[in-house]
Amino acid sequence: MQKSLLFFLFTFLIFSCKTDKQELVKAKISTKPNVIVILADDAGYMDFGFMGNKDLETPRLDKLAKSGAIFTDAHVSASVCAPSRAGLLTGKYQQRFGFEANGTGGIGLSDAVTTIADAFKENNYKTIALGKWHLGESESDHPNQRGFDDFYGFIGGSRSYFPIEKPSKGHTLQHNGERIIFDGYLTDILGDKSVSYVEEHQDAPFFMYLAYNAPHTPMHAKAVHLEKYKEHPRKKLTAMMWSLDENIGKLVDKLEETNQLENTLIFFLSDNGGSTHSDTNNGPLKGYKGIEFEGGHRVPFLVHWPNKIKGNQTFDGLTSSLDIFKTSTAAAGIQNNLDLDGTNLIPYLKDEANGNPHEKLFWRKLNEAGVRLGKKKLVHLKGYGSTYYDLENDLGEMNDLTLSDKATSDLLHKELEIWETGLMEPLWDEGGWMPVTFHIQQRLMQNKPLLYNTPGSRKKYLENTSK
Ligand code: CA
Repeated sequence: MQKSLLFFLFTFLIFSCKTDKQELVKAKISTKPNVIVILADDAGYMDFGFMGNKDLETPRLDKLAKSGAIFTDAHVSASVCAPSRAGLLTGKYQQRFGFEANGTGGIGLSDAVTTIADAFKENNYKTIALGKWHLGESESDHPNQRGFDDFYGFIGGSRSYFPIEKPSKGHTLQHNGERIIFDGYLTDILGDKSVSYVEEHQDAPFFMYLAYNAPHTPMHAKAVHLEKYKEHPRKKLTAMMWSLDENIGKLVDKLEETNQLENTLIFFLSDNGGSTHSDTNNGPLKGYKGIEFEGGHRVPFLVHWPNKIKGNQTFDGLTSSLDIFKTSTAAAGIQNNLDLDGTNLIPYLKDEANGNPHEKLFWRKLNEAGVRLGKKKLVHLKGYGSTYYDLENDLGEMNDLTLSDKATSDLLHKELEIWETGLMEPLWDEGGWMPVTFHIQQRLMQNKPLLYNTPGSRKKYLENTSK
């Protein structure tokens, strides 16, 4: 009898401990949100149904947007891929550490900066980067050295969506340095990995940086989707966007199936505006990728977190990709004393704060710069001059008000000057793209059509005009 009583007590204790542990795990899951940042690459402001597009299909993202908050005046900190990612992942204007031009200059991301993944990893989150890195190819720049437990993607700035027999270092699909030989379409491969990661990480919160290279060039789509859209005037882009949307849908379904969707904070955005040569659509905005007009840096941006943020919201305040670091670490209860340039967006989405998360935003890429002060916008091109617009009445940046309102133009110049005193000199430049970008920026400032838009087309233009 005594023996069975002891056995009962022993079993009870073991059971209680196990239950306590399970409760702890549950508590952890219920209080610490997962955070997922999904990046599209070079998608235009108007390339999504939830942004008003009618001629292509993004039903899964549209559904996500409907149950979250859509931002209409959100910006990345650079109009091109690499510096935009440097800003997003550090929560700082990337010009503060010399990462101003596109590419990585053989230098990459400064060792002195802390990434958002570092912050999550230090606070017991599991961390993974998926897809395109583009922040440096040396060992010290590898995602595994920059806060990510796992990296499943490629180091370079773009690659084929299909297998490459002998890929370069930057083009090699890898998992933590080990080459992955894949069969199929890269957008699907990244989507599948995002799904299996969620399946395998249900017991602890995770931070996922899901950087699709879609719909960046090369314009590769699956045959089945090219067939689906064979009559479409933008069939390649539309097919690529369908795959992107389908794979984001798979991830959302897995979060729902594992009861994690409610407490996962999801950001979705494009890393810069649509480019001049991939059929993207920037809607009412002027300019493209690489340019400091709104079409270069104002992006589709949505936030989804059912536990804390109500759906059906449209937010018009001036917002930045730099806000993702501060917003997501605040959501996870992570304290730090980093000198960041972003703002926590959650209070704005819970009606606890009003107005603009930012009164001012700045952009600079070598010779080009832009300033927003509320709805006032200055565009400056070193070696040419500046123009200034009132976006309240002129979203398309067509009417230069410099002469009629010199005081505001001067104020914007002054703001730019003050901001620039906190920056480093760029650590590299953009070589042959610089005269092309200068040309595009200047022609747009003059409201004139472009004569060329790539180094190759510039060369041809110069050859023909010198005859
Ligand atoms: Ca890009």
